[in-house]
Amino acid sequence: MIALFLSWLSIKASLFLKLTMWKYPENLAQKLPNLVELYLHSNNIVVVPEAIGSLVKLQCLDLSDNALEIVCPEIGRLRALRHLRLANNQLQFLPPEVGDLKELQTLDISTNRLLTLPERLHMCLSLQYLTVDRNRLWYVPRHLCQLPSLNELSMAGNRLAFLPLDLGRSRELQYVYVDNNIHLKGLPSYLYNKVIGCSGCGAPIQVSEVKLLSFSSGQRTVFLPAEVKAIGTEHDHVLPLQELAMRSLYHTYHSLLKDLNFLSPISLPRSLLELLHCPLGHCHRCSEPMFTIVYPKLFPLRETPMAGLHQWRTTVSFVAYCCSTQCLQTFDLLS
Ligand SMILES: [Zn+2]
Repeated sequence: MIALFLSWLSIKASLFLKLTMWKYPENLAQKLPNLVELYLHSNNIVVVPEAIGSLVKLQCLDLSDNALEIVCPEIGRLRALRHLRLANNQLQFLPPEVGDLKELQTLDISTNRLLTLPERLHMCLSLQYLTVDRNRLWYVPRHLCQLPSLNELSMAGNRLAFLPLDLGRSRELQYVYVDNNIHLKGLPSYLYNKVIGCSGCGAPIQVSEVKLLSFSSGQRTVFLPAEVKAIGTEHDHVLPLQELAMRSLYHTYHSLLKDLNFLSPISLPRSLLELLHCPLGHCHRCSEPMFTIVYPKLFPLRETPMAGLHQWRTTVSFVAYCCSTQCLQTFDLLS
């Protein structure tokens, strides 16, 4: 019956197709090579076959509310895809090939089982709306901050304890929702003056959490990404040698950073080379790249003019990550 239906559609040169079924339709690409929109939500589909990659004109794919456990790498061949909806499935990871979707504007992967996001996601240069609510995220790749078009990021209801240092540095990013990540106590200061949601964050520290790198100031404690190797204070006037070397290398080769072989005469461990391409963060005061050490400064949200917006209930703090004692002393959240 479905086959007959599709044959009829192919004659009609269909652009839009909504089906209700338990299995991905076979030979879809051969029958409907010009398909632009495909809605397969609210079925019981478990597997999307490799053949999906043949629907090269597809712009909108909705596979929400199914039973998907895997998204095949061939999805990366859908180079015209603009909207991908995978909400409410059983996905534990996304293939790195998602990064090949250069036209992708909307990605909804809420209510799945993701532990992290694919690092190549930052290559989706058109991505504007990313929704990862209600997953199991504990870590967000710092590369995500490089998404040039991202306007709205929603990661509510996950297991995040810290955020990338540069999150919010992009002017395009205006909406960030991280509500109900109970261990999250620090928000990068770049998020001040943006629309944020952080209710249900900042629970008291449990003994089991002490393994996480943390920084305390007064009564406040925030967690930091494990990539941070050292935490500077206002008394640490001298930068570690490795940090000085990395900053020097970065400035020397900055214009060549896009060339992966730019350091070929110099031998560097892969981890450091990767850091040169994507620093840990940029000083919230002066934009200097930072690689191993950060100088954090806390601003409890409750004590800022934004407290009223959050009904004075929140216990999270904005964190200014600075590059030196000088920037630490002169940073002002409200300026
Ligand atoms: Zn600085």
